[in-house]
Amino acid sequence: MDSTEFKSFRQKLSKTQKQMSQLLGTSLKAIHSYEQGWRAIPPSVERQMFFLISRISTNPNAKKPCWRIKKCAAKQKKQCPAWEFKSGNLCWFINGTICDGGVQKNWKEKMKVCRSCEVFNNIF
Ligand code: SF4
Repeated sequence: MDSTEFKSFRQKLSKTQKQMSQLLGTSLKAIHSYEQGWRAIPPSVERQMFFLISRISTNPNAKKPCWRIKKCAAKQKKQCPAWEFKSGNLCWFINGTICDGGVQKNWKEKMKVCRSCEVFNNIF
């Protein structure tokens, strides 16, 4: 997530920088730094931003479980943490999901896959 995306999400959430700092449990200075591009946005913050955005989504498809959209085979589904933790519409939030042929090794790699996935894009 870059500074422009962070700022546009904050605005979409109708939060001031101070309110955003409270929601994210961080300082106002950190919010300034994220929006000015002085500080990289950590994965934990990025994840929370996506989570908050997903909660205000009005797209009815945002509620559909990923295994239904992706038509996952029963065997794959049972090995996937999205299924295990009943998080079919929050699969992008959980590391270790089985997507695009396997498990991605970290959040950055996972996000690369998620950003081009229908399930993730349904939250916007
Ligand atoms: S690629 Fe990401 S958004 Fe798509 S199903 Fe997998 S975890 Fe969910």
